[in-house]
Amino acid sequence: MPVTEPDDLRARLDAARSVCVLTGSGISAESGLPTFRGVGGLWRTHRVEELASPRGFARDPRLVWTWYGERRRAHMSVQPSPAHVALAEIERRVPDFTLATQNVDSLHILAGSRNVLELHGKMREAKCTRCDARRPFDDAFDLDALEHDCGGMWRPDIVWFGESLPPAVLEAAFDAARRAELMLVVGTSGIVQPAASLATKRCTRAYVVEINPEETALTPHADRSIRARASDVLPQLAR
Ligand code: NAD
Repeated sequence: MPVTEPDDLRARLDAARSVCVLTGSGISAESGLPTFRGVGGLWRTHRVEELASPRGFARDPRLVWTWYGERRRAHMSVQPSPAHVALAEIERRVPDFTLATQNVDSLHILAGSRNVLELHGKMREAKCTRCDARRPFDDAFDLDALEHDCGGMWRPDIVWFGESLPPAVLEAAFDAARRAELMLVVGTSGIVQPAASLATKRCTRAYVVEINPEETALTPHADRSIRARASDVLPQLAR
């Protein structure tokens, strides 16, 4: 049953020529993937911060790849949620639409979203630590062949703790936030920077609507907060 009637929100969406959406792991929770907090900060006996870091990778690349391999298999076992699909439908109606996501699971792309900025990288690719080479992280990926021809090593194309976001992707996200008349902030605790800053008044003059069952660090920046699950709101909005 719908939790919120987003009628006035739909009117805003119909009127907006430029829309920016910021998503976090809450939208993928509806597909069955754990949120960052859901992971509990631990994998087996390892702290996630230690696995997802350049230092952790330097210490034990195979262990780090094994962790990502498990996560990749989890991503491949799920489907986009009605909320992912709704955002792809909304994109087709809006002249200037940008979806900036903190998720690395590719579910927005699978759902049909096109203008997607993957702020924190993507699980589906590996990149070289030394040169610009990239390759798919798929079933053919060999954990016994992590050295690249140039002398570097294959690592996940993920932004790790202590690393900067890809500058071109971040710049495109800030541009989209600046242009936006309406911004939807979906399923993020708003704690991870600089992604969260996109939805603050410093970066956007858009009308900001947060869709999250819980209060977050971005709630004070939102013009409106809808305390509901993404799939209870976005499909109604897309209809
Ligand atoms: P977070 O775990 O900090 O916050 C998740 C938010 O989602 C919470 O505020 C929660 O209330 C909300 N939420 C839960 N269920 C929801 C629903 N059905 N509808 C709407 N909101 C819901 O996650 P974050 O803000 O994305 O930041 C954590 C970091 O972890 C990010 O950098 C992200 O890259 C990474 N991460 C990604 C994935 C993924 O790709 N699926 C999974 C885990 C973590």
